[in-house]
Amino acid sequence: MRASDGETAYFRSYRGTIPDMLVNCFHTLTGFAFLLLLAGSAQAYDAENLVVARQGSMPVIFAVPHDGVDPVPGVPPRSQGTTVRDLNSRVLAERAADLIEKRTGKRPYLVVAKFSRKFVDANRAEHEALESPEALPAYRAYHVHLAAFIAEVRQRYPGGALLIDVHGQASDAGTVFRGTRNGWTVKSLVARHGEAAILGEASLIGPFQAAGWQVHPTEPGAKEHTKYNGGNTVFAYGSNNPQGIDAIQLEFGKSMRDDPRAAEAFADAVISFERKYLSDSK
Ligand SMILES: [Zn+2]
Repeated sequence: MRASDGETAYFRSYRGTIPDMLVNCFHTLTGFAFLLLLAGSAQAYDAENLVVARQGSMPVIFAVPHDGVDPVPGVPPRSQGTTVRDLNSRVLAERAADLIEKRTGKRPYLVVAKFSRKFVDANRAEHEALESPEALPAYRAYHVHLAAFIAEVRQRYPGGALLIDVHGQASDAGTVFRGTRNGWTVKSLVARHGEAAILGEASLIGPFQAAGWQVHPTEPGAKEHTKYNGGNTVFAYGSNNPQGIDAIQLEFGKSMRDDPRAAEAFADAVISFERKYLSDSK
């Protein structure tokens, strides 16, 4: 639904520019060359090649917006905003997904941005995510897949579903920070199961603590770190929205992202969370 609305607006913006150009320069060679250039830039790349979207078989979706390295053809680097890569966040998510499948026979859904954050930031609202209209198809390809998977898990798993937005932070190498806008993006989960579902032993961060990693927050009622309390994706798709699902951002320290033990803890966390909080009331 969002995709077709967006495409219509996108198409319209191009249509609006073409008649003016026709009047001014259709009969000149430079004008003709410019039209060719415009047509070329609108078709410059296949946005699907810049996103990985893999179907799952359990009510959990992993999203990885910031570990891409690919340029977006025809798009210059952004001049504002954070452009740093969350190195190895994709490896961590994929290792955890493989372990979950090995142990349970079920696999989380996966959406990965292959495009670099230098060109498009998939964890921002559209108006902040990019600076060049040529970057829009890449941004939308990511979100169209994510929105479609969310609609699908809502339908397939009425007992509840979880989106985990996987990131990396540079503040503390051995810590994973939870981001839910202080409970807002997991509104439905907390209403059903209380704060224990996002904190402590049986929560998504509990198994990391049990495996010897630091987690944040740890105390009941404690606020999340202001820098890592959840970005646009968890806010846009979380259960604070009527069409959303529970959504948690996890910000992993550097030494966790490429450590197979952290992937083990991640798999443990997802498996136990699904059993405790997502398998009931079907
Ligand atoms: Zn990030």
